[in-house]
Amino acid sequence: MKKLIAGNWKMNLSREEVNQLAYDLMTNISPEPGPRVEWLVCPPFLYLDRMTKFFADSPVAVGAQDCSAHDNGAHTGDISARMIAEMGARYVILGHSERRHGHGEVDETVNRKARRAHEAGLIPIICVGETESERAQGREKEIVGRQIMDSLPSSANSANTVIAYEPVWAIGTGKNATPEDAGAMHAFIREALAARIKDAAHMRILYGGSMNADNAGALLATAHVDGGLIGGASLKAESFLAIGRSLKEADG
Ligand code: PEP
Repeated sequence: MKKLIAGNWKMNLSREEVNQLAYDLMTNISPEPGPRVEWLVCPPFLYLDRMTKFFADSPVAVGAQDCSAHDNGAHTGDISARMIAEMGARYVILGHSERRHGHGEVDETVNRKARRAHEAGLIPIICVGETESERAQGREKEIVGRQIMDSLPSSANSANTVIAYEPVWAIGTGKNATPEDAGAMHAFIREALAARIKDAAHMRILYGGSMNADNAGALLATAHVDGGLIGGASLKAESFLAIGRSLKEADG
């Protein structure tokens, strides 16, 4: 399976900076779909329309960073999965730790949003991961196992859903999980998925948490690590594309 290298731009970048980043990506990326890598960028909602048009017919897919748990109607401030799909986006990040911890999202909310994403034909990237204190207590598998069980809707399969393992203590901290720790968690997630869905072996499981060009080669070469969800290093074309290049080197 090709590795998915996904950039989460979060609430960063001005309009000019978004244009520049998109231009830099487009001019430095190979125009042909690569044999090993698929690229994805997830800009803030306001730039979605422009970015899907800009990257149309390119090897870069576009996704959103969240969607509403509702289909449509009186939900001030919400953006529905259908609206996102209508903009030409293909993916939506759901249950990111900044939504779970900063906006009180629970597994049930993530599950409802993922169902909306499926109904709209979007691929949700469902994020799971333990906090530092949960890991210190040896509870990382219990926490992540529960998130997998409760956040995945029954409509999930390996073609329409991606999982991102993002230990909370690694996000934006410069402290990435070691390939051994990430590998152990990804193998565990694969097993937990097998209890929920038939074709778990083919579901992509991304690693996220301070991934950069220096650590990506080893992380992406680890069994069950099917790509990366990248925050900080996705804000510059050079550092984002270097992650894809490190994969080629790791693969030989
Ligand atoms: C993220 O926000 O999903 C993330 C992994 O961020 P960073 O790469 O900056 O740790």
